Amino acid sequence: MAAPCYLCGEEAVVDGLCNNCYDEQHPLMEVSTPIPLLACKKCGSVKIPGGWQKIIIGKMNSEELAEKQIEIILEPEIKLFAKGVTLTLEEEKKLDRVSHLVVHASGKSHEKIPPHEEQHKVEIRFRYGTCDTCGMMSGGYYEAILQMRADGREISDDEKKEMTKTVTDMTVARYKSDDKAFITMINDDKYGIDYYVGSEYLARDIADKFESRYIAERKENYKLIGEDKTGKKKYRTTILLRLPRFSVSDFILVNEQPCQVLAMARNTLTCYNLVRQERFTINPKNARWRTISYLAPLTDRREFMVVTHVYGQPVQIMDSKNFDISEVEESAFDSEIISGAKIYGFLFEDQLYLLPDQTHFDVSEN
Ligand SMILES: [Zn+2]
Ligand SMILES: [Zn+2]
Repeated sequence: MAAPCYLCGEEAVVDGLCNNCYDEQHPLMEVSTPIPLLACKKCGSVKIPGGWQKIIIGKMNSEELAEKQIEIILEPEIKLFAKGVTLTLEEEKKLDRVSHLVVHASGKSHEKIPPHEEQHKVEIRFRYGTCDTCGMMSGGYYEAILQMRADGREISDDEKKEMTKTVTDMTVARYKSDDKAFITMINDDKYGIDYYVGSEYLARDIADKFESRYIAERKENYKLIGEDKTGKKKYRTTILLRLPRFSVSDFILVNEQPCQVLAMARNTLTCYNLVRQERFTINPKNARWRTISYLAPLTDRREFMVVTHVYGQPVQIMDSKNFDISEVEESAFDSEIISGAKIYGFLFEDQLYLLPDQTHFDVSEN
């Protein structure tokens, strides 16, 4: 026969207490109230010790945002005293800037006692301000300028579009972890495109990506812009990336041989040697890299039609512009020879070279 509970006289279960008295003496959790909540009026971030916690708002409405903000501020305020406790939040009423909540906790205060539920009232008091990120952004803060240029030509609109997408994606990916992950300004003119980046780390990472993607030349400059309160000098970084004169599909000379650029990625250029009729790759570490010079844009290629082809004999082709008929050796073809097919060639030093991957061009017109 167990001894009675020393508080109420019921049958004692643990430490001389009955289930109910034990639960009352050992709550599942504790939370302080009221809790102040400072949120950024622009982006919804919540002030937490040591900084601001960002929220990816997406398609949240204002109620869902407030819920998320409350979760952030409430979580560190709740002290749990038992394992395996389930918490749910319920809003009792919401005044202008005050939210009255009930935290429902359910679980076991002791393994020998059946689970029970507790209710804890909490009041959240909202205040609104400007977070560090929004403050810096509206103040035009930036630590680095990323300048995109091209050697001897303008950067095309397609290239600019692709660059801006990369900058945006990388900035968004860094949004939660870096307070300065924002773009203050984009300056787009005929010389190129400039990104004013809040975070120097982010700017460097984007520059690394572009350097390899476009096989660009990189130069960095530092400008002293002043001193902070402790007398430490502050610098602003400018990273200049210069894209090559050529881009994909253009014609270049490598070791004085005419080639067509087929692809450009990860610091590697894939080319087609028109003379040898073979593909090869090259990167800035190759000795041959320095022999590269620009030859002509893709628009300099010529269009022909295969007129007749008799096996074992030269192939007759017709220039689509002036209808001149000329003959090329069968071996000049990179792929199957089909009468009536449209093919492309490039004239270099009076010699006509047929281009590779003919079927990939203008497929829709055939
Ligand atoms: Zn009792
Ligand atoms: Zn903000």
